[in-house]
Amino acid sequence: MSSFRYEPTECNGHSWESANNNSRKITCFFGKRVFSGQVLEQYLNSSAYDSLMAFINAGKKIDRNSADQIATGMKTWAEEQGVTHYSHWFQPLNGVTAEKHDSFFTLKSDGTPIEIFDGSALIQQEPDASSFPNGGIRATFEARGYTAWDPSSPAFIVEYAQSKTLCIPTIFIAYNGESLDYKGPLLKSIDALNKAAVDVCNYIDSTITKVTATLGWEQEYFLIDEDKSNARPDLLMCGRTVIGHAPAKGQQMEDHYFASIPEKIFAFMQDFEQEAYKLGIPLRTRHNEVAPSQFECAPMFEEVNIAVDHNILLMDLMKKTAKRHKLMVLFHEKPFAGVNGSGKHNNWSLRTNTGINLMSPGKTPQTNLLFLIFFINTIKAVNDHANLLRAAIASAGNDYRLGGHEAPPAIISVFIGKHLSQVLNRIQEKVNYDFNEQDEAVLKLDLHKHIPELMVDNTDRNRTSPFAFTGNKFEFRAVGSSANCAGPMSTLNAIIADTLIAFKEEVDSLIENGTKTQIAVFQVLSNYIKSSRKILFDGDNYSKQWVEEADKRGLDNFIHTPEALEVLLKPETLRLFERLNIFNKRELTARYEIALNEYVKKLQIEARTLGYLSINHILPVAITYQNTLINNVQGLKELDFETSTYQAQLHLIQLTSEHIQSIRKLVEAMTDARKVANKLTDIREKAFAYCDTVKEKFDKIRYHVDKLELIVDDSLWPLPKYREMLF
Ligand code: ADP
Ligand code: MG
Repeated sequence: MSSFRYEPTECNGHSWESANNNSRKITCFFGKRVFSGQVLEQYLNSSAYDSLMAFINAGKKIDRNSADQIATGMKTWAEEQGVTHYSHWFQPLNGVTAEKHDSFFTLKSDGTPIEIFDGSALIQQEPDASSFPNGGIRATFEARGYTAWDPSSPAFIVEYAQSKTLCIPTIFIAYNGESLDYKGPLLKSIDALNKAAVDVCNYIDSTITKVTATLGWEQEYFLIDEDKSNARPDLLMCGRTVIGHAPAKGQQMEDHYFASIPEKIFAFMQDFEQEAYKLGIPLRTRHNEVAPSQFECAPMFEEVNIAVDHNILLMDLMKKTAKRHKLMVLFHEKPFAGVNGSGKHNNWSLRTNTGINLMSPGKTPQTNLLFLIFFINTIKAVNDHANLLRAAIASAGNDYRLGGHEAPPAIISVFIGKHLSQVLNRIQEKVNYDFNEQDEAVLKLDLHKHIPELMVDNTDRNRTSPFAFTGNKFEFRAVGSSANCAGPMSTLNAIIADTLIAFKEEVDSLIENGTKTQIAVFQVLSNYIKSSRKILFDGDNYSKQWVEEADKRGLDNFIHTPEALEVLLKPETLRLFERLNIFNKRELTARYEIALNEYVKKLQIEARTLGYLSINHILPVAITYQNTLINNVQGLKELDFETSTYQAQLHLIQLTSEHIQSIRKLVEAMTDARKVANKLTDIREKAFAYCDTVKEKFDKIRYHVDKLELIVDDSLWPLPKYREMLF
């Protein structure tokens, strides 16, 4: 795993800035724009350094004096690299990052210019940010929102348009401390999980004092030539195409996946990768994806907090870099109908301060037992809180992707594979009411003998599951490509923490009644296996049979975001988040409302775009072409041709007319439905109305537009077609 410490590397005395990065080893410039590792020792005195480390390693508060010293060190380091401004960098709930730049430069009271940056500027800022989504937490009259330094994520320097800015990762909170961003709840979930996991680890290993969640994301995206994307209002407005007929050739030849990368794309990739390395983002892989013009990149996994920052930072970097290369990068989950959508697999695991991966089986009987505890608790957590996980990945964009043949369905289930299924069966079979120490020893040995097979057999894979165990981690595949990973990761951490707390309560109560610790552990695990059966599924998640089977098992299948989010209103959801100190009632309600608001806004923009594209772009062209046909028929008639010779033209005129009429009617109906929905003041009702009455028209309108695309003269068609954009 990569951490935030970067070791010094030998680079033949070249200045890393001046030399051509492409020709040198990545280690020469990796992390050079990050205030961490070696640099800390160099720019901080020992008390400031110790104070920062004590925060990172043990959450110890940083006092004001140390903060001042850290600020001074940061400023010196940054200025040496040509930085003039700093910014509190944060992740508000509108899905992008926010920054407000301030200069180090200021004037003293006597007018002397000076450059300063002290502890107070580092610790807290009050951006004038009253228009970020807040779900009613901040009424505008009390529109105070604060950004507060997150010392666990290192500051970094972003270079853009020849200017360098020191970015300080922060959380964004209201005047009363309530969360207004993605990062605050994530940090709280990391805390809750750490406490719960350490307590449980200590049954087996008392040297474990810290457990951190790790995340390795895989980012999928599309790249489109800017001259094409600029001519598609839908791509510009919605990030996806709302119309467009599938090309004759889609992805059926499967010739794009892992094929060689086109030169123009490659140049773009190299460019953003170089920048990413400087920012300490440990990218490892790049390749073509399944759909034409679709690609993926993935870094090494990191602590979840850092991995989240790196993903969001990279997405921003990719957008800017693409512009320079005259490309448009699309992070939307379903930019093109008929070809694969984009996901962002979240590979997640737990690591102890002693270096054990708790999701990795098979080393010693002791780590094996730890593995079983955490593995089974994870399954139990997903079983009990599947709907919370579903809610955590719900968005207008992901609704188009989930269940669409190439992505997992909206039904949450867990894949564990043949071997581990057998292991679980074995535990359930052996552990019964008179299970004793002797049986336990036999079982442990027996399990230990079987579990290493896992590591050997890597073919036991399933690519269709939304939540799959992949040998030493779980892969949450249902996350959408545009998502901030902090959302799903906070929820995942929270449900695991909650389950571990309950697990400990149950084990403790058995111990109090005289049961030996490890026997008690096995007994509770065995019960968990029994009660989590319905969530386990190893078959084809894309199949129709699974949808039916899941329904029989009582698993929910929330196709649309408004229904998927309802779970956030349940009292047991509030209890869970309150107990873990992640959300209070207002915060949770605010999340719910913000998510629905975003959903409504996205659909509103899509509806408008689809409406005017259909009426202003498509219909005029269809009518023009139809007139050509009519003129042609009239001409043939005047020349006394028989009707039979222009039958085909008549038929096309007829068809075109029908499509034109249908489009008009449907767009009108959609606009009316939108007006009705817009009048609703309750956001929940509004979201359902948008889903059931507005969005419902999208595909119907599109059907007729796409039919016209096949009829109308290609040279008249006003938008770049799929084949032009994708190939
Ligand atoms: P695959 O077989 O899915 O292609 P890899 O083993 O190469 O997988 O890993 C895929 C992703 O999983 C990578 O981004 C990697 O960083 C991440 N990963 C590997 N181990 C862990 C871990 N312990 N915790 C979190 N992520 C991990
Ligand atoms: Mg993967």
